[in-house]
Amino acid sequence: MIYADNAATTRLDTDAFEAMKPFLLEEYGNASLPYVFAHKPKKALQEARETVASCIGALPSEILFTSGGTESDNWAIHGITALNYEKRATITSSFEHHAVLRACEAIERQGFPVSYLQPSSDGYITSEALSKVVTERTCLVSVMFANNEIGTVQPIQELCEIAHECGALFHTDAVQAVGHVPINVANLGVDLLSASAHKFNGPKGVGFLYVREGTKIAPYAAGGGQERGLRAGTENIAGIVAMAVALQKNVDRAIDVAARLLRLEDTFLTRLSQVGIDYIRNGGSIRLPGNVNISIKYVDGEMLLHRLDLMGICISTGSACDSVNTQISHVIQAIKVPQEYAQGTIRITFGAENTEDDALTIADALAKILVS
Ligand code: PLP
Repeated sequence: MIYADNAATTRLDTDAFEAMKPFLLEEYGNASLPYVFAHKPKKALQEARETVASCIGALPSEILFTSGGTESDNWAIHGITALNYEKRATITSSFEHHAVLRACEAIERQGFPVSYLQPSSDGYITSEALSKVVTERTCLVSVMFANNEIGTVQPIQELCEIAHECGALFHTDAVQAVGHVPINVANLGVDLLSASAHKFNGPKGVGFLYVREGTKIAPYAAGGGQERGLRAGTENIAGIVAMAVALQKNVDRAIDVAARLLRLEDTFLTRLSQVGIDYIRNGGSIRLPGNVNISIKYVDGEMLLHRLDLMGICISTGSACDSVNTQISHVIQAIKVPQEYAQGTIRITFGAENTEDDALTIADALAKILVS
């Protein structure tokens, strides 16, 4: 089997897995309790918070553990707008992940206006586009760090400055970027940032929301006093510990892995051109390493996905959450891929475990299906 859908999820790192085990089997005490049996889980929680914070240039007190990207995005949007009845406008982009888009639709139903910025045809939200819409009535701007389908990395620092000039807070859904490209929240200036462990070789069902010190956010869940009283619920210690291990490892090797992934992209695309496949590559060149989103002329991407699946190759047509939906994805529509290509869009996302051989095998499999 060749797995080339690393934007959908990644394999759990073995060290991360080993780090989880003691907190499931032996050190299973509840970190909130005062007895000695709870000391190790409590210490592990604190250390994981410190590790995660240092990986993104934050303070430990600015990290709130969550169940993953979807929760972090929903919390950021609901949690900020809920406290801003006066200054109530939100701005996002039309090609965000559905975790952001659906949360924005929900606040619209509650009477909070939302504007949707359109990306350029190469997949970027520009400062000009944001400047035209942001006003002193804007409480929140939410633009993703890197798009999950086409991988384009947004000019977050510039967008953030524009939002701040109008007194708005800035949230970025960095689920696809954390652990893969260098991120320093202090340099970026963002107020909130979402991340998810399973996108960087951590376990599923755990993530975090970075909230800049001093930023007021409404609680996500009421109950016990966990996560500074903002997100009640017994902590997923094993998941959190494993997330910290996986994140630290990914951050340490990110530059080397990125260089290798760029070579895999090159190998794959060179072979595609050699065999005469008529494709366009979606998104500009400032993008996540390993992301190859292409549209092939007069072909059905769903058909390709299933044919490749039969050959033991996992790729995607749109975002993973869209896989039951055969419509052209909202991202491909937003960047206006020409009609004769749009239906034939596939996303290959190479990861640290992929090899040159994998890249050639996928290209040859496509050639077998398309060039007879
Ligand atoms: N945001 C982006 C950009 C994503 O790619 C995803 C997952 O595909 C999510 C949010 C949701 O994250 P999770 O699967 O952890 O809920």
